[in-house]
Amino acid sequence: MSDPCSGELRARVPRCLLDPRAPAPATSHGDGWQAVHLRWREARLQQVQPLPEPSDLSAPLVLPTFCEAHAHLDKVFTWREHPNREGSMDGALAANMQEHGLRTAEAVHARANAALERAWHYGVRAIRSHVDSLGPGAAASWDALTTLRRQWRGRIELDLVAMVPLDQWSTPAGVALADRVAAAAGCWAAWSALPFRAIPVVAAA
Ligand SMILES: [Zn+2]
Repeated sequence: MSDPCSGELRARVPRCLLDPRAPAPATSHGDGWQAVHLRWREARLQQVQPLPEPSDLSAPLVLPTFCEAHAHLDKVFTWREHPNREGSMDGALAANMQEHGLRTAEAVHARANAALERAWHYGVRAIRSHVDSLGPGAAASWDALTTLRRQWRGRIELDLVAMVPLDQWSTPAGVALADRVAAAAGCWAAWSALPFRAIPVVAAA
């Protein structure tokens, strides 16, 4: 019986992902792809050998796993119940605040887990997520996301980032939140003002 965690494959990869010190094969077509011979064992890549022949566009394309650098897992899939039909930043904030006031750990867990299932299916293996960390839904969000972080470890790495106004960190509640975030191996961030404001549209004369 063959070992499913070992094997080899002729494939193509973006040339920019290879060691830049490796000489480019003379037959490279300049299409950005590089033919390679991949060999892996015990589920770990052992060799990425550039091949001298031109890349075969029918060969399998191999990419590194994806990293989602900015997500908001605490409020994914909330459009159906809290839509922002005007499509504005203010509308989004109003819908967000409405949802935040009703948030439960069970709801956040179910929604974020569904998002993680999709991300996993499409090759995402690391996600950094801001977490609304002030107000009635903050504790529920941290309960659910730290649970998910533990449940998904080894498949998707979750990096949780507490988001609160800058002044909050100097309050007793902010210190308590910092302790909680540190215990969850997360990190923190803050804003001194909301980053976007609705800009009046001025009609051209
Ligand atoms: Zn964000």
